[in-house]
Amino acid sequence: MSDSTPHLSRRRFLAAAGATTAASATLAATPALAQGATPAAAQPVFPQQLPILITTSVQPILPKGKAKRVVICGGGWGGLSAAKHLRQADPSLEVILLEKNPSFFSGPMSNKWLVDIVDTQFLQHDYLQVADKYGYRFIQAEVTGFERDRKRVYTAQGYLEYDFLVLAAGIRYNFEAWFGDDVAAANYTRTHFPSAYIPNNEMFRLKKGIQEFKGGDLVMTLPPPPHRCPPSPYERATLLAWMFTVKKVKGHITILDPKDSPRPLGPGFKEAWEELYPGMVTYVPNARVQSVDPYNKRIVTEAGDFKWDHAILMTPHQAGDMVWKAGGIGKNAEGKPTGWANVDQFMLNLKDDPDTYVVGDSVGFVSPHFGFYPKSAHVAHRLGRIVAGYIAQRAAGKTPKYALPDNLCYMMVNGGLNGGPQEDLLVTFDYKVNEQGIIQQTQVDDNVRSHRLVKEDFGWATGMYADLFS
Ligand SMILES: Cc1cc2nc3c(=O)[nH]c(=O)nc-3n(C[C@H](O)[C@H](O)[C@H](O)COP(=O)(O)OP(=O)(O)OC[C@H]3O[C@@H](n4cnc5c(N)ncnc54)[C@H](O)[C@@H]3O)c2cc1C
Repeated sequence: MSDSTPHLSRRRFLAAAGATTAASATLAATPALAQGATPAAAQPVFPQQLPILITTSVQPILPKGKAKRVVICGGGWGGLSAAKHLRQADPSLEVILLEKNPSFFSGPMSNKWLVDIVDTQFLQHDYLQVADKYGYRFIQAEVTGFERDRKRVYTAQGYLEYDFLVLAAGIRYNFEAWFGDDVAAANYTRTHFPSAYIPNNEMFRLKKGIQEFKGGDLVMTLPPPPHRCPPSPYERATLLAWMFTVKKVKGHITILDPKDSPRPLGPGFKEAWEELYPGMVTYVPNARVQSVDPYNKRIVTEAGDFKWDHAILMTPHQAGDMVWKAGGIGKNAEGKPTGWANVDQFMLNLKDDPDTYVVGDSVGFVSPHFGFYPKSAHVAHRLGRIVAGYIAQRAAGKTPKYALPDNLCYMMVNGGLNGGPQEDLLVTFDYKVNEQGIIQQTQVDDNVRSHRLVKEDFGWATGMYADLFS
């Protein structure tokens, strides 16, 4: 569930002896960390969680030395890239990566994993080994709050002081848009009809549900843009149609899209649905969700009402919780939260804080030409590297010049039929600054499915994993 907890100011920061926190993370101990570990009794919590308010001191997890320290919050594609590239750009920097999960699980290639084209090993990677190799410190801990005015990040174990902060928070689901404050409906939906757009146990729940699906109507909602990996819900629907074909499951897939046409790669996906899986996929445009009844398996949209035997329900996406906790969410003209980080579009720092940077899917509006960078692993990796460069230059007393990312997404539409080859589509994006000083996007869709693109797809994934994990 989303929450709108503001970041902690010094005045409002309180801690309670014995109070529980949202996190129960464990420390992946390094020798220095073990020495500095904070007793559980001194953990920081948010004011609304406090049963009894007792002001007490909290302790640093790891005292700050003379070296400039960068704390990166979130060990996904953006955070890992920032950590590695920071250490490469300036080995004198102390770089600490905070991540709540014990291991990395990839979103890219996970649609192929869902239908057993790749195995779990291909997606799951170890944090500790790579941290050792590049010389940054990995701490498994849930980030619970920030005091940006004091340059502190709080975790269940205590706080860390920093010179520069990188928020690599990914996304969170906005269940409130569907269910208001009905937490039970949100939890029921997440448990029974998970979208698995945030890699964790949900991925395994989704896979189990799909594998147990014996046939009937499978309904899939798409979030309104911007959302994580724009073409990937179509890839998921297409690969499910492929799996149902191969396994002879009598399933029908209905895609409920708030947009007026599938994009990117609309022609390529439509051709695959018509030519490879005739009659199996129905695409419904302009299907903005009005209400969802997960208990009775009903959904009302602007394009009609639908019932399902099984569903993959994607709520709207927003920047990850940590950006909200850091007070980094933008406001629209009416003063309401935009849902995304309020960054300088070139330098990627929060507009109200030159020392706090945001990378990856959480990044907000960057251009009146195209709005948001595509929320992809490729962009997150590039932004992590770019921000690492900015910080390294600033730490050396220089003024960085802006850099822009690129993006590409391979989408599999055919896992191999009747002994034939697997086939992919591809979309690429390039960015430049135009004469008006606006970031401009050029998008090229390769809608002709081919096996050559499958080879490139696996080459891309293997190369990206190698860059971050070996
Ligand atoms: C099905 C699917 C298919 C996709 N296909 C592609 C593709 O083909 N190509 C592509 O480029 N991209 C693809 N993506 C998108 C890609 O996964 C995301 O764009 C990418 O993960 C964004 O990186 P990030 O660093 O912003 O967020 P993430 O990778 O989500 O990282 C955020 C990290 O923050 C951690 N975190 C969150 N809160 C806390 C906290 N309080 N304390 C500590 N840690 C915390 C999370 O555990 C997570 O590890 C796909 C995604 C999905 C779901």
